Amino acid sequence: MVRTIAVTSRYSQSGVTPEQQPAPGDTQRFQYTEIHMGVPVRITVSHANQALVERAVKVGYKAIADLEQVTSDYRPTSELMQLCAKPHGMPYVVSPQLYTILRKALEVASLTKGAFDPTVGPYVQLWRVTRKTGKLPSPKELMSARDRVGYQHVILGDNDSTITLKRPRMQLDLGGIAKGSGIDAIAQGIRQFGIRSYLIEAGGDMFANGVKSNGEAWKVQVGRQVVDLMGALSISGDASQYIKIGNRRYSHIIDPRTGLGMESPRHVAVRCSRSEDADVIATAACVLGPKSAGILSSLYQRSQIEFLDRSDIP
Ligand code: AMP
Ligand code: MG
Repeated sequence: MVRTIAVTSRYSQSGVTPEQQPAPGDTQRFQYTEIHMGVPVRITVSHANQALVERAVKVGYKAIADLEQVTSDYRPTSELMQLCAKPHGMPYVVSPQLYTILRKALEVASLTKGAFDPTVGPYVQLWRVTRKTGKLPSPKELMSARDRVGYQHVILGDNDSTITLKRPRMQLDLGGIAKGSGIDAIAQGIRQFGIRSYLIEAGGDMFANGVKSNGEAWKVQVGRQVVDLMGALSISGDASQYIKIGNRRYSHIIDPRTGLGMESPRHVAVRCSRSEDADVIATAACVLGPKSAGILSSLYQRSQIEFLDRSDIP
């Protein structure tokens, strides 16, 4: 994994003249980037104490790195992949992090009647093959994947610690929720240091706390627009991840009814207080579409779901 950490505050880069140095105690802006969960994760902080910010950011990045080791479906050594590799039909004790994120994913799966389904791994694997070969999976491949998919085949133990996968060779995929959980984990890490003004951006998932030192809201790019941000914002859709076969376009978001990538070009922006909720709702709303997505906003009452116009997306 490529890991970079770069302080890009204009005060802390080499080459700045002493005149540019702030008086001690002035709020400065610090920015860092590391790759986690396959995307650059950028943290921007407004604060006076650089040493404190650096400790906080380090703790934040460690929190998302730890969560990636729990949830990744790319790493055979992750806790999630180790669970999937075990013989089916038996309860296994998992970490509190894995239990909590799976419980949330299954809650949304049941609420959306499987439009969001964390067991779509076998379909996602077929999608990844299609991306390489340019050929859709055969009906036989889809049928054999279907036997291994279904959120109702994942059982949460009453003891809040065990998971049972009822079908053989199930492949869980937390790609629609884990980045949001990772951002919440970073925010929790940073907050422990008493830092209140920061922005976290990881691809289409973003979270802002407080305001910038000049009193203005943090600003982020949504499609072609720059918008103010307070709390969590997640964007889902096929803007960057899709396969084109002939004149049909298949998103990386799977329609669990067909096992193929969604063909309707939907882009959804969700705002709410936690990134995990924003992330999972955005993916689920993409599958449900504008008519059915209302069930999500009724459950997550403080969430706002907006379907974006294709022309808003670069
Ligand atoms: P996001 O970019 O947050 O919308 O998440 C997309 C990712 O979620 C995909 O790359 C898959 O890993 C996973 N995914 C795809 N389709 C579904 C689905 N119907 N339900 C749950 N997760 C999905
Ligand atoms: Mg998502």
